[in-house]
Amino acid sequence: MSGKILVAGAGHGGLCAAIHLAKSGLDVTVFEKSSREGMGYDWSDFVDVSTFSCVGLDDPPCERELFYATAFFGPGKDVKLVKNHSKGRPCVAMERKEILCHLLDEAEKSGAKLIFNAQVKNALTNGDRVVGIEVAQNGNEEKFYGDLVIDAAGVYSPVRRSLPEKFGIQRDFEDFEIYTGYRALFQRKSNYGSSPRYSIYFYHCNRKGMDWVITDNDYVDVLVGNFGELSQKDIDEAIDDFRKDYDCLSDKIVRGGTICKIPVRKALDKFVCSGYAAVGDSAAMTEPLCGSGMTISMRAGKMLADALAETSNISDFDKALEKYEKEYFARIGKSRLFDDASKNFLLSVGAEKFDKMIKRKILTEKDFGGGKYTFKETLRRVWGFVRTPSILPDAIRFLIDVKKAK
Ligand SMILES: Cc1cc2nc3c(=O)[nH]c(=O)nc-3n(C[C@H](O)[C@H](O)[C@H](O)COP(=O)(O)OP(=O)(O)OC[C@H]3O[C@@H](n4cnc5c(N)ncnc54)[C@H](O)[C@@H]3O)c2cc1C
Repeated sequence: MSGKILVAGAGHGGLCAAIHLAKSGLDVTVFEKSSREGMGYDWSDFVDVSTFSCVGLDDPPCERELFYATAFFGPGKDVKLVKNHSKGRPCVAMERKEILCHLLDEAEKSGAKLIFNAQVKNALTNGDRVVGIEVAQNGNEEKFYGDLVIDAAGVYSPVRRSLPEKFGIQRDFEDFEIYTGYRALFQRKSNYGSSPRYSIYFYHCNRKGMDWVITDNDYVDVLVGNFGELSQKDIDEAIDDFRKDYDCLSDKIVRGGTICKIPVRKALDKFVCSGYAAVGDSAAMTEPLCGSGMTISMRAGKMLADALAETSNISDFDKALEKYEKEYFARIGKSRLFDDASKNFLLSVGAEKFDKMIKRKILTEKDFGGGKYTFKETLRRVWGFVRTPSILPDAIRFLIDVKKAK
């Protein structure tokens, strides 16, 4: 097959698509604003254990640490919900930079061209079609034209944001749909280790947010984040509060210490148009309840490449893009609509009602992917609802949202 593909941003989804498309013989160029060494965050992240095999790639040759359980806490921190991953597929932690390095190596091996320090400025359009991108490099701006632009430039993608309104693709996300997170790895002060080692805190310090602490062998890994904006005061307050529970948490940051953004919502209703397809964070392809997006982005990248590989002709690309969009919704997007409505519900109830929901077993580890409710547990949940009439308006809105999503 012939055709020229331009990939904006060397994100996980874009690289996965680039690898498979270059293998099918297409002329693929990836434009990345960072230098090769500067890519990725300075910490390890969690992915589904089968992420790479699912998209037809070998696992990165790096250390992997399996995680079998996660604890969840409400704002009161007095009830600990433990989700056991061993019943499903465990999560594996890998260094982010090593994952990206592996994907970049694979992309080069498959014949894709990688251009670093190249900042994509905007999409180039002609009539109803995206025909290329404008790129700033070494102080010059240059126009590149191709048969398809794959937008993998993340949450604030300038490609998506520059598309004319008539293309029907949402350009910006609402503030509360973007999780702003500060993550730092602190030196350990003592041998204290929590069990399980990975703990997630909702409404910590009464913020509309989600924080975590992971007591790693070498570090104490802290994430503080809000659905919306995050101030330095929020960060300091949360870390000070964690120090009361974790005496191993020192004040010396050894890695990370940066603020990042992730879209936490359902995928965009429309993320393809003639000559354009978005993958990953640029199309809000994440888990709405926690923001994980590497596995989903890579699966979407593979789906896009497979849909294009089925066409024998460039003139059929647009049909292949429609197929990619439909398949994404059928295989991944549809099941996240409920999670998105759940996230909006949990954010709407506020810290106090959230705490009551945990204490009255309306919310349990099963709501965070920990299995199905038994009949007895369902009855206990209904009784919890009856005892907490103040959440009824939020619950009704939630049911309406779920119905709308369907
Ligand atoms: C603190 C934090 C922790 C996270 N933890 C996890 C986790 O444990 N597990 C998980 O699955 N997910 C996690 N995520 C989410 C995950 O990082 C994203 O969902 C995932 O990286 C999305 O991949 P992507 O393909 O969309 O590209 P991204 O990773 O968003 O990459 C986009 C790329 O495009 C480049 N780019 C941006 N703008 C331009 C431009 N104008 N021109 C050229 N290049 C550009 C960027 O430099 C970057 O390389 C976490 C995110 C954060 C912030």
